[in-house]
Amino acid sequence: MQRLTFEFSLLQNSGVMTQTTAALIWFVGLIGWYVIRYPFARRAKKMRVCKSLYDWRESLLLAFATLGLFVIPAFYAVTGFPAAFNRPFIAVIAWLGLVPLCASLWLFYRSHVDLGRYWSISLEVRESHALVETGVYRLIRHPMYSSFLLLGLSQLMLLPNWLAGTSGLVGAAAFLLFRMRREERMMIQTIGDGYRAYMAKTKRLIPWTL
Ligand code: SAH
Repeated sequence: MQRLTFEFSLLQNSGVMTQTTAALIWFVGLIGWYVIRYPFARRAKKMRVCKSLYDWRESLLLAFATLGLFVIPAFYAVTGFPAAFNRPFIAVIAWLGLVPLCASLWLFYRSHVDLGRYWSISLEVRESHALVETGVYRLIRHPMYSSFLLLGLSQLMLLPNWLAGTSGLVGAAAFLLFRMRREERMMIQTIGDGYRAYMAKTKRLIPWTL
């Protein structure tokens, strides 16, 4: 019994990984996210847009994802609200949360690099838009959206609060569920059979699986 208690306390608090450290790691990940995106967002502004599907649905989806992945967890990290949804902090889970966080940042970066000038925050077709099917786009069609899910998973593991922990996954899932089909329809209209063939050889989010 004594040993069990000892092991449980180790799981809860093993040295450097405390609740504050975990929240700081999550915050550093968030900064990494912005640092990665910034130069691409700047460059994208200079590209000519031929078609945009930006409408109220798009802005609602973007707002929902931002709320779940950034606003709610940031508010929790700073104020501790809503404490009613707190769960026990488990250091091992927080340590493991580093895996999806690093994977998310890597995939987020790689997908920006591979997509290059065709990246856009909303659904847009650029001048002489071509199909990208290399790099991280070779096996999955939406690696950037997979990186959102990985970020949401790391949030769940790093923040010991059921609301602030799960809001990222909920926001990201809602975003992709509505966005992916619309995006693929737009790509078929733009690229045609080339995109259909690409769809036949790839999965959406997880290589060979989903
Ligand atoms: N869904 C992709 C891209 C997100 S950025 C991902 O998750 O990685 C959104 C823009 O990327 C869309 O407006 C579309 O114009 C462009 N796009 C998406 N897939 C593409 C592809 N395979 N080749 C070229 N452009 C693509």
